[in-house]
Amino acid sequence: MNHTAQRVVVVGAGTAGGTFAGLLRQAGYDGDVVMLGAEPDPPYHRPPLSKKFADPAADASRWLREAAFYDEQRITLALTESAVDLDPVARVVRTDRGRELRYDVVVLATGARPRPLIAPGAHLDAVLTVRTLSDANRLRDEVAAGRTMAVVGGGFVGLEVAAVARSRGLPVTVVEREERLLARVASPPLARVLAEHHGRRGTVVRTGVEVVAVEGARGRAQRLLLSDNTHVAADVVVVGVGAQPCDELGRRAGLVCAAGGGVVVDDAARTSMDGVLAIGDVTVRPRLGGDPMRMESIPSATEQAKQAVATICGAPPPAPEVPWFWSDQFDLKLKIAGILAPPYDTALRGDPRAGSFALLHHRDGTPVAIETANANADFMAGRRLLASGHLVDAERWADPAVPLRELAFA
Ligand SMILES: Cc1cc2nc3c(=O)[nH]c(=O)nc-3n(C[C@H](O)[C@H](O)[C@H](O)COP(=O)(O)OP(=O)(O)OC[C@H]3O[C@@H](n4cnc5c(N)ncnc54)[C@H](O)[C@@H]3O)c2cc1C
Repeated sequence: MNHTAQRVVVVGAGTAGGTFAGLLRQAGYDGDVVMLGAEPDPPYHRPPLSKKFADPAADASRWLREAAFYDEQRITLALTESAVDLDPVARVVRTDRGRELRYDVVVLATGARPRPLIAPGAHLDAVLTVRTLSDANRLRDEVAAGRTMAVVGGGFVGLEVAAVARSRGLPVTVVEREERLLARVASPPLARVLAEHHGRRGTVVRTGVEVVAVEGARGRAQRLLLSDNTHVAADVVVVGVGAQPCDELGRRAGLVCAAGGGVVVDDAARTSMDGVLAIGDVTVRPRLGGDPMRMESIPSATEQAKQAVATICGAPPPAPEVPWFWSDQFDLKLKIAGILAPPYDTALRGDPRAGSFALLHHRDGTPVAIETANANADFMAGRRLLASGHLVDAERWADPAVPLRELAFA
């Protein structure tokens, strides 16, 4: 793109933006780097917000980089300052503080925001979402107060919060509109195992019902009314019904965006306009072996940060990676790679009841995705299989007597 860019402006001080800025310096870029962040905090890790919010010991490791890093690396952090306008012709970003920042390259890393619950009463106090550090702090207080919790949405974030709250002894009900948990992002067998796992630990899992209203008193949530006319007691409600990309800036600037949301990029993080790159949750990006899509994960944001660095430095883009993701629920460390799209068959290795297993999903022997719980070696082998595209013998995969190395390099 522009090897001699003198100033790079990063919009968004989250995982993607923070990772990008650090890697850009590491790659030897010497010009100005300015990072705008709407939040008051420097870049931090979001995965612990739904997994470790109740554990103060985890706070020490929350930052993506130590505070001194930004000064040392001459990265100007402008926090609590949002970009409100992007002029890709004049190459200027305007902020809500009335500043105009000229740029040679701008990197949009604005992430996503929680999709709101659309129901009467959703505005009540104690109806919470989990995206930011302040959201997680609020959640910590509510859990410490020993509330009765309802989680709306049986996706990863909702289930992680439910697991933490349940582990702390709170009564928890998960309400999911679809007929099963994790309908968009996990296979039916994994969803079944997880529903049982949560159920055995005392979480009530209600699928196939919708929230009709949040009912409350004195401005605070008290219970949910569901579409089957039942009620769920809840003096704290956590909404985890997905996220929407923060693509307004890009849209207004005329960047090509997907109909369902997200700035469209190529595998070098380039948008439809010269001088404008985009990375992380805000993008709709190409992926190995499938249609472009939005991927909300740390590995994806990191991969795209590397792509943007390569583009700015005039280096070839890094080799594409198999997308992957993780989640911690109770004692289960889940790892998932690849994208599930029917039709596929599934081969199980290990024993879900023993808490360690790997589901390899394949289409006529070609691996499409792997889902594992407490089975890291299987996960690594499965990822290698996915990357290689090698055919897999499902029977051999399911046979614990067959060593992994024979499967991964067959
Ligand atoms: C609770 C939770 C748990 C998660 N767990 C996992 C996990 O286990 N594994 C995994 O792989 N991924 C997980 N993710 C997803 C992962 O955190 C995201 O994919 C990743 O944070 C995306 O990085 P990003 O920089 O694109 O967006 P973000 O990290 O959201 O950063 C975007 C930043 O841009 C700021 N911003 C937006 N608009 C503007 C503007 N106009 N001007 C200035 N700043 C702006 C926002 O305030 C935000 O700080 C989780 C996400 C959440 C919310």
